[in-house]
Amino acid sequence: MRGYNHAMNTMDSLSESGFADLVDAHCHLQDGFLRHSLEPALIRARAAGVRMMCCNGTHEGDWRYVLGLGRQHGDVCVSLGLHPWYVGERGADWLARLEALVAGNPVGIGEIGLDNALEARNDAEQEEVFLAQMELAVRYERAVTVHCRKAFGRLADLVGVMRKRPPFMMLHAYAGSHEMVPVFEKLGFHISICASITRTANRKARTACVRVSPERLLVESDSPAIAPVGVDFERNEPGYLPMVVEVLAELRGEEPEVVAARTAANARDFFRCCGGGEAK
Ligand SMILES: [Zn+2]
Repeated sequence: MRGYNHAMNTMDSLSESGFADLVDAHCHLQDGFLRHSLEPALIRARAAGVRMMCCNGTHEGDWRYVLGLGRQHGDVCVSLGLHPWYVGERGADWLARLEALVAGNPVGIGEIGLDNALEARNDAEQEEVFLAQMELAVRYERAVTVHCRKAFGRLADLVGVMRKRPPFMMLHAYAGSHEMVPVFEKLGFHISICASITRTANRKARTACVRVSPERLLVESDSPAIAPVGVDFERNEPGYLPMVVEVLAELRGEEPEVVAARTAANARDFFRCCGGGEAK
């Protein structure tokens, strides 16, 4: 694990990760500690070789702010969506507001999805909101970022019967089984791997990430959430992405540089339709 233990110790070592080109396929630069100390985190990310960060809005209250981050920073590309956690708080005209922002800006659609791990289940409402946003992605030909917990079979069923699907779909922070990886790939999904694989006890994630086809593989920080092992909870940031790549490469028996280059190329391809493929 070249550099892995080293990178775990201090933030200073991030610049020594040695990766020339990484893309963070999913993060929330508007949330947690990142909201108020983004500039130094962006500097650390760039020093660690992260060339592009894909920032996802999750509810009506953060869409405009996230859009602003994309305009402000050439290496931040944006997706906007209503996350299943915030379905109950949506306004009456949420879909019209989202559509106006999507129509007027080169953005992806996300983070959207299904979450059956919530205590207060609202499955029918979640599905209605999810499908409305999938239709939007089809209509505007945008890439979609999907969150899924404990609803993988249902997700596959819903997407499977769509007459037309969005041009690109990603299952972010993949937490499904390794058996479902080929099922989702066949439906047209990319699979994004996060720092859950740095926890040796998480055998499910560590087994699944090995099954992902090279051309559908992405890596992400999901910062400020899902910190790698050794980093404080909720203190994750894009600059820690090399740790995900190092562990992923080791599990897959590949060279870290190859995994970095491949996932960066896949992500640029994925986000090309929403301005992520080229420098702004
Ligand atoms: Zn997320």
